Amino acid sequence: MIRKLLIANRGEIAVRIIRACAELDIRSVAIYSEADRFALHVKKADEAYCIGAEELAGYLNPHRIVNLAAATGCDAVHPGYGFLSENPELARACAVRGLVFVGPNADTIRLLGDKTQARAAMVAAGVPVTPGSEGNVERLEAALEEAARIGYPVMLKATSGGGGRGIRRCDSAHELAQNYRRVVSEATQAFGRAEVFLEKCIERPRHIEVQVLGDHFGNVVHLYERDCSIQRRNQKLIEIAPSPQLRPEQREFIGQLAVRAAKAADYRNAGTVEFLLTGTGEFYFMEVNTRIQVEHTITEEITGIDIVKEQIHIANHQPLSFRQEDVRYHGYAMQLRINAEDPKNNFLPSYGRLTRYYAPGGPGVRIDTAIYTGYEIPPHYDSLCAKLIVSGRTWEETIARGRRVLGDIAISGVRTTLPFYREILDHPEFRRGVFDTGFLQDHPELLNYSLKRGRSEAALAIAAAIAAHVGL
Ligand code: ADP
Ligand code: ADP
Ligand code: MG
Repeated sequence: MIRKLLIANRGEIAVRIIRACAELDIRSVAIYSEADRFALHVKKADEAYCIGAEELAGYLNPHRIVNLAAATGCDAVHPGYGFLSENPELARACAVRGLVFVGPNADTIRLLGDKTQARAAMVAAGVPVTPGSEGNVERLEAALEEAARIGYPVMLKATSGGGGRGIRRCDSAHELAQNYRRVVSEATQAFGRAEVFLEKCIERPRHIEVQVLGDHFGNVVHLYERDCSIQRRNQKLIEIAPSPQLRPEQREFIGQLAVRAAKAADYRNAGTVEFLLTGTGEFYFMEVNTRIQVEHTITEEITGIDIVKEQIHIANHQPLSFRQEDVRYHGYAMQLRINAEDPKNNFLPSYGRLTRYYAPGGPGVRIDTAIYTGYEIPPHYDSLCAKLIVSGRTWEETIARGRRVLGDIAISGVRTTLPFYREILDHPEFRRGVFDTGFLQDHPELLNYSLKRGRSEAALAIAAAIAAHVGL
């Protein structure tokens, strides 16, 4: 049984995992860089160790991490998301050192982390995939040939891509020729691998993904779906569970399809099967994320299942404690990713000292964050600064709650996406629950908010009073 666990991550997800450990009576160990000396995960963990002064090298070094885990008497490592979470080397290094890796094994991570191999495995299992090239396209000539067969527009994608990077739409052979080198070099730079492949570009799709859990005894269940169609540049901004856009029979269908996909990969631990839903109602497999996801929170809210604790139970070789028919969901939950970015300046990251932070509460509100008043957001990491999660019994109540909470939160010192979310939640189409991945592109006027209107004066006043009190 896991008694002491090292968290190979930082920020809100490290804090989230520390909380699960505390509830399971597991001792938590944090790692940090020099830039993270004053980070919340360092303060909250039972023990914390500097993994190297450099901003990134320590968080990205599997060998340093397993050595530290072994030296500090840990029996397990949780990778979180990002960093090494989808790198088979960390899972392998753990196995070699006799440490439990909280996630699927290295072979599963390697197979599913390769989008063309994953597509092939799904085709073999009878799961429909987005039409596309058979395997990678090794040269521009092959890409042009395949694209002619698939039909334009096509998506040129990095085979080992993630985080919305290394994806480009090409509307013609000319554009494909222009983009080919660019995506190959982007892929090489960002993921250390040059392979690319093609998919048919689905017009106006919905991004629907299913949370799955598999144990070491052949049990696989799904925890229903999330709708992550509100995106900017292929990156999720708002996530909703369940999707307000699915009929009950579609929900049933996609859940079973995700379980079939997970079983085909002998999937063990928590994972997410991502699909695109076309305007005409087809679901196409896109990829599997072999880790905890940023938006796991909303599934927890609607099902009452603590997914991080389930990950640890599974890693402990305990069978799932519930069957598919025991999984119920109620109401809706919505997550807003509050990024330290300036929407009015092309979402430029905005780093610095948080002079004021006031967190709302009340029914149906959850905030997962690692910020605090006075915290200095370092420029070296991603710009997610808080996840604001609201839930309600109905879609209407969830929206109303979201609008109420947005008027009851204050973050100052850096620019954030908060005022932008106020505009989205006021938008009639969004409120009707009808949107696809093109929503933000279709509505550039959402960026025309006035900063004054975007502020909550009452929340700011409270935050200012607190800041004055603590002498900031
Ligand atoms: P999710 O799929 O959970 O919604 P995101 O795509 O938003 O996650 O990614 C979460 C974080 O992980 C981001 O910081 C992102 O840059 C990083 N990330 C995701 N996939 C990869 C990858 N393949 N390589 C490197 N970083 C990644
Ligand atoms: P990542 O690994 O970066 O998460 P995905 O393959 O999951 O990449 O795609 C990210 C997003 O890009 C999707 O949610 C969707 O909005 C868009 N996208 C990807 N593939 C297609 C496609 N074939 N047609 C239309 N949109 C796509
Ligand atoms: Mg994805």
